[in-house]
Amino acid sequence: MNPTHDPTGASTGGRPIGLAVLGMGNVGTEVVRIFDESADDLRARVGAPLELRGVAVRDLTRARGIAAELLTDDAESLVTRDDVDIVVELMGGIDPARGLIRAALESGKSVVTANKALLAEYTGELATAAADAKVDLYFEAAVAGAIPVIRPLMQSLAGDTVERVAGIVNGTTNFILSAMDETGADYAETLAEAGRLGYAEADPTADVEGYDAAAKAAILASIAFHTRITAADVFREGISSVTAADLVAARKFDCTVKLLSICERIRDADGKQRVSARVYPALIPLSHPLATVNGAFNAVVVEARSAGRLMFYGQGAGGAPTASAVLGDLVMAARNKVHGGRGPLESTYAKLPVAPIDDVTTRYYVSMRVADRPGVLAQIANEFSKRSVSLAAVRQEGAGDDARLIVVTHRAPDRAQSECVAALKDMDAVLMVSSVLRMEGTDD
Ligand code: NAP
Repeated sequence: MNPTHDPTGASTGGRPIGLAVLGMGNVGTEVVRIFDESADDLRARVGAPLELRGVAVRDLTRARGIAAELLTDDAESLVTRDDVDIVVELMGGIDPARGLIRAALESGKSVVTANKALLAEYTGELATAAADAKVDLYFEAAVAGAIPVIRPLMQSLAGDTVERVAGIVNGTTNFILSAMDETGADYAETLAEAGRLGYAEADPTADVEGYDAAAKAAILASIAFHTRITAADVFREGISSVTAADLVAARKFDCTVKLLSICERIRDADGKQRVSARVYPALIPLSHPLATVNGAFNAVVVEARSAGRLMFYGQGAGGAPTASAVLGDLVMAARNKVHGGRGPLESTYAKLPVAPIDDVTTRYYVSMRVADRPGVLAQIANEFSKRSVSLAAVRQEGAGDDARLIVVTHRAPDRAQSECVAALKDMDAVLMVSSVLRMEGTDD
């Protein structure tokens, strides 16, 4: 009997698997804790003992609750040590994480990372280094925390054709929009409350301006469409201009507002295919599965040609939930070290071009203050009609100086929709275009 294949793991016969962790913050602390607590189970699942060789941090003076000799501020030496087989990168940021991961891969170590900002720019470089060294590069925790979505897309759906991936993948913005919807409070007040409750960072820019969601969209689109997509390919708008009035108005259309990351296969009239990756706040019908995802929760809806619609829901951030995904990857990488072989690497054979937002078919919601006089509605409708954008709904509210008009359009190229908005801004009868949002989750 080959002892390394003993499913009980009771007699692995093989040497222990050495592990290095880079970073002991929110996620790293939980990874080390669970790793320690579940050592026996992990050993049985892997088929060999896992041993922590070291943890790299910046500040060696802080008490971390682990043996002092495991801590180091020399991450460079740790990642290339001979007794390290797997490096778990949980530092975040581009540098020095990028160089450390490269050095680890080039030294034959498998790497597990949760670093979406890095992956959204450098997956290609890192995947090439992993392929050259014949080791694993896993990153389930980089998108939507605990929710398994990378592995289902990369493995379970490897035989299907993914048409669309749409999700709520940023908990901070979902918390803010849900709270605005629930309480009627405005954006600034709700952002401050999110900060007090620990849902928003001191500098919330990456979350509220959609950079974090765009990085995740780039990762999801790359996997779903077998095409290398980076954060620069993702059209991005954040939530900082969404108002309390928008959420009230959305309800009148039986909708709510969510920050969506959308990755879509676009089929042009000539049969050619392109990819659209985009992040923006959008009205979605209350009946849509993503409308019920509230607070800091995340969800991703995948539409594939044969599988149909699949939905993944759960905790998209936080130390322990994210550590769950990291440990799942760690067990996979360790099993491969014990039994031989490798997991799948990214595949980019399709090389689909990226469609600019102008070419994407969208629906618009436009809220404006208008002069309260006869003929204004006809003039506004004419601006849309001139550009072949038809109106699905018009709602007039208030009177006199407070007259407000809200229009919702049918689907049309985004370029035509944005040209309509530019024309409205030039009209005398339109005193102010106060809000422009897109609408998703409907077919019309
Ligand atoms: P964090 O709390 O800021 O922790 C970062 C850790 O990395 C700290 O322990 C820090 O050391 C260490 N570190 C930073 N730069 C270092 C350097 N140059 N050398 C050595 N150590 C260094 O970060 P986190 O929230 O755990 O996030 C870690 C990663 O997981 C990020 O890529 C993040 O995007 C991703 N992620 C996080 C979540 C979440 O909910 N937090 C969810 C999904 C993905 P000190 O302790 O000494 O400062």
